[in-house]
Parts: sequence; C-alpha cells; structure tokens
Amino acid sequence: MSKLILKRGREKSLERRHPWVFSGAVERVEGSVGAGATVEVHSANGDFLAVAAYSPKSQIAARVWAWEKARIDDGFFRERIAQAAYARQALLDSGTTNAVRLVHGESDGLPGIVADRYGDTVVMQLTSAGAERWREAIADALGILPKIARVWERSDAEVRKLEGLEPRTGSARGSLPAGELVIHEHGLRFRVELEAGHKTGFYLDQRDNRLRLRELARGRDVLDCFCYAGGFALNACAAGAKSVLAIDSAASALETARANATLNAPAQVEWREADVFSALRQLRDEGCGFDVIVLDPPKFAPTAAHAARAARAYKDINLIAFKLLRPGGSLMTFSCSGGVNAEFFQKIVAGAALDAEVDARIDAWLHAAADHSVALNFPEGEYLKGLLCRVRG
Ligand code: SAH
Repeated sequence: MSKLILKRGREKSLERRHPWVFSGAVERVEGSVGAGATVEVHSANGDFLAVAAYSPKSQIAARVWAWEKARIDDGFFRERIAQAAYARQALLDSGTTNAVRLVHGESDGLPGIVADRYGDTVVMQLTSAGAERWREAIADALGILPKIARVWERSDAEVRKLEGLEPRTGSARGSLPAGELVIHEHGLRFRVELEAGHKTGFYLDQRDNRLRLRELARGRDVLDCFCYAGGFALNACAAGAKSVLAIDSAASALETARANATLNAPAQVEWREADVFSALRQLRDEGCGFDVIVLDPPKFAPTAAHAARAARAYKDINLIAFKLLRPGGSLMTFSCSGGVNAEFFQKIVAGAALDAEVDARIDAWLHAAADHSVALNFPEGEYLKGLLCRVRG
C-alpha cells in the first residue's frame, strides 16, 4: 500500500483520532497514487497512524477509514454500513418514524458518505474522492440492508467540487418507486422528493425539534420561517395551533408543503412565498405579533471564512423575530453552519435580543436528532445547533 508521510510534528491531531489530514501537513506521498486510493498514513518518524483515502485535489488530503492496519475492501463497507444501520434500528423499531439517517459520515467511521433511509428507499450522498472510489461497494452494502428496495444517489452537493468530483444523481440500485414516496414521523406524513428535494430529500435532523414545537404551539399563533416542506408548521398544526404562517422563498418547497398539508389534513396554515429577510420586516411594519417563531435558515456559513457575514445575517433575522414576539413568547432559532459554533451562535442571539430590547432566557439548547450523532473525536460533526428562547411576559 502507498504511504502518505506527514511533516514533522503534524501527527498530533491523528493521535487524537481526528480523521482528517490537511494538505499542509503532508510531507510527501510515496508512489503514484490516484484519487480515492487507500494509503497508509505515517508520521515523519515512520510510525503507522492510520489507513486513509487520498484526495489529491482537496485541502483535506486524506480521510481516515481505520486506525488499525485494516484491509479496505467491499467487506469493510458491508461491515461498517451494517453497524451504522444497526445503531438506528431501535429508532425504526420504536415506530416513531420510518425515516432515519443511516450513515452520518465521519461519525460512523465513513467519511464522505451520508445515507438516509426513507421507508424502503435509501438515498446516498458521496462527497469525497475516497467515497467515490468505493461507490459500487457502498451502493451494494446499502442495497442489501433488510427491507431495502432501492438505493438512489444524490451526490450533487457543492462540496464535491472541492474534491474535483462531478455531480451525480439517479438510481444506484433498483428503480424509482411507482408512486409518491411518503414517510411518517411522529404520526405525521411527509412526501419526500427524491429527485428535486434539498439534501437527500428531507431534513431528518430536525425530527426531535419539530416534536418539541408541539409542546409550545397549542392555541398559539405560530410563525415558521424557512419552512421548506412544512415540517415545523405541520407539527404546530398537529399540536392545535390557533394559526400558522409559514414562509419560504422556494416555490417548489411550498408546493411540497401544500401537498404535505393535504396528507395531514390541517386547514389553518398560510403558506407564503417570500424572502424571510424582507417578510419579517413587512410583518413588523404591519404591527403583527406571534407567540412562537421558528427560524431554521439554510447554511449561511459553510466554513469559518464566511462567519462574519453569516453572523450579520443571523443577527438580523433573530433581532426582528424577537421584536415580533408577544410577551412570554418563544423563539426556536437554529444555525446549521459549520463555520459558526454553538458558543458563537449563542452570542449572536444574545446580541439580537439586546438590540431588540427584550429580556430573553434560554429554555433549552437544541441539537440534531440522535441518528445524526457526533463522534467525540470529530466535533465538526455537530453542525446543527439551536436555542429555545423565551422573552419575558
Ligand atoms: N425547517 C425545514 C428546513 C429548512 S431548510 C424543515 O424542518 O424541514 C431552509 C429553507 O430555507 C429552504 O427550504 C430554502 O428554500 C429556504 N430559504 C433559503 N433562503 C431563504 C430566504 N432568504 N427566504 C426564505 N426562504 C429561504
């Protein structure tokens, strides 16, 4: 196997089992090694550190498959993927939902690989040269999981470009379902758009937080900003909200949201196609008030380089949301930006409350659901953070 030798002193993060090797830490790669090839990572002293996948075009030059001298082959992926699926089996067996994240990248020891299960359909997303190299093995391993009829590919995330990979979508195993793909979550039904939906089709990470909203929404006026397919809005309805206004700028998302509303038969949602930044201002100028507001925006800062601009955007929407809240009202606010950590996000929200001149406290810190668990050696896996804030009554 080819060797990737680190610069002197650059083995520290790997010794702590952080699974990335940055290109700046690489002294040399021995032999001619193609994209996605398996390499042994060694320290400058020649100590073996890990077996990894090589990404020649990326700033992350290698991603670790194993900390021991494991053989990386079809069987390796069968085993790792079966283990990852097993970890989610109890959630499926509980009947809470039939849609779970099966594979969560680095946290499952499978860097560059995400797989979500929607009923009998798995959607996989490959984002690294290493994952791409093993595409067939990964599709096979997902396809042989119990009660899986098809594996659909949505390898169209922007980050593929950083690895020099072209987007790829379509069937990997099996054919498209004959009718609509509908999942259930906490007793509600949602349509999943395999071909055109965001990410792999649905935001499974917000499952627990959508349920949490139900505790707050009964008899209340609820505003769901960045509503996508209506996940939060329809949970508010299920709780018996007095009214729900849901806003998204994407017409296609709202079309799915309306279809989802019909599947669950609630009548009290107003779906509004608008830019949230201007819609919030308009609501404020009209003197509107809400008891509960959800802010679940897209990623404003994919990396730390975008943090300052993202911070301004987060502050802007949170500030106006605080102003729109009635006394005693609740704000459920999120950031899914890798470039903004939980501590920084809390500071931004605190600054927004200050400028909005409201007294607010934190009732809960919110996270992605447990099927998106974070390996302790990979804190970057904690991308979704949220705060449930209450303003003084
Ligand atoms: N809350 C959703 C997920 C939200 S994803 C759920 O639980 O499933 C973020 C959404 O924000 C996407 O649907 C996207 O279309 C929308 N969006 C992005 N920028 C926007 C903007 N400026 N105004 C309104 N919606 C926006």
